[in-house]
Amino acid sequence: MLERKTRSPRAETTAAAHGVATDTAFGSVVPPLYLSSTYEFAGFETPRAYDYGRCGNPTRDLLAQALAKLEGGAGAVVTPSGMAALDLLIGRLTRNDLVLAPHDCYGGTLRLLKARADLGHLTLRLVDQKDLGGFQAALSDVPALVLIESPSNPLMRVVDIARLSDVAKAAGAAVAVDNTFLSPALQRPLSLGADYVIHSATKFLNGHSDVIAGAVIAADPREAQDLKRWANITGAIAAPYDAWLTLRGLRTLFARMSMQERNAMKIAEYLDAHPAVRHVHYPGLAGHRDHELAKRQQGGFGAMMSFELAGGVPAVREFLAHVSCFTLAESLGGVESLVAHPATMTHVDMGAEARARAGIRDELLRLSVGLEHIDDLIDGLEAGLNAC
Ligand SMILES: *Cc1c(COP(=O)(O)O)cnc(C)c1O
Repeated sequence: MLERKTRSPRAETTAAAHGVATDTAFGSVVPPLYLSSTYEFAGFETPRAYDYGRCGNPTRDLLAQALAKLEGGAGAVVTPSGMAALDLLIGRLTRNDLVLAPHDCYGGTLRLLKARADLGHLTLRLVDQKDLGGFQAALSDVPALVLIESPSNPLMRVVDIARLSDVAKAAGAAVAVDNTFLSPALQRPLSLGADYVIHSATKFLNGHSDVIAGAVIAADPREAQDLKRWANITGAIAAPYDAWLTLRGLRTLFARMSMQERNAMKIAEYLDAHPAVRHVHYPGLAGHRDHELAKRQQGGFGAMMSFELAGGVPAVREFLAHVSCFTLAESLGGVESLVAHPATMTHVDMGAEARARAGIRDELLRLSVGLEHIDDLIDGLEAGLNAC
């Protein structure tokens, strides 16, 4: 019995109930939302746990604790966006620090890294992280930070996080993994050797497409503390209401993930068998080139996929005019299903040449699969594909 009591809660329990029934003022079951920007001192030279909202906020801190626990980290900072989370992490670098990032990373990530490099805040090199030889060669210049995104957006390429972390750390680099696509419900990069996890909490963590937020989680307690210090210095802090909403969204993370993934698997199989579809990128399919690695490294295959239409761009136009149940929009990870056209939407800033190099074709469509009934989702896709 004793052992049972002292064991730390399982991840599902943390997501569903971290901070529940801890309110000492009124016994509210749901953790209260503290909007106050400032806190009364107990007396002269006697601050309480909180003094000013930029330095700390109980609602934001509760979410940070939950995320740190879920990712198995020492601490977390909740930022106003995913991009702010990355900027907080790279903001501590200096001009000679080399950042090694995937050549096919999230468009906003690439834009931020390039903008910082252009200002001389860091040195940037893009590499194909599927090419282990090339990756190892790039390590000879001793990067300060290696950024990994797995699965990648939008092609769902999976890299071996443990292997890359191992060689990167042996070369003296810190490793950060963008875990937005899978969330800690399905992948825990710190347990694979990474030093940091970053998130766009806008996506699966919140899961309801009504918040923009982000997070950085650090494995090392001193690094977690230092990131908190920098968040206070720069003001890279999420609003309390956004933190509260994200914590509410997080309650159902595991349930959402498991059902969205189930829908995604069925959709991937359906698309894979459809003559209007040339290729489906979903690691859950046995034919996906990273299927075995994804199976080993991830707790599941997630709810994101992309596919190429056999009919090229004209087919894309027809598909999007006729598809239903999937809304044409950027973003992902919500309870509602979305379809996006990377070449003209999420990855437009990348430029045609870089897209071609990364393998992002003009006939590629990306799906974020939600919680609708699977038959409605398939009917909706069928309406689009029949028109192609
Ligand atoms: C959306 C996204 C981001 C950026 O997050 P924001 O909350 O939009 O700033 C970063 N990485 C990935 C993989 C994303 O999907």
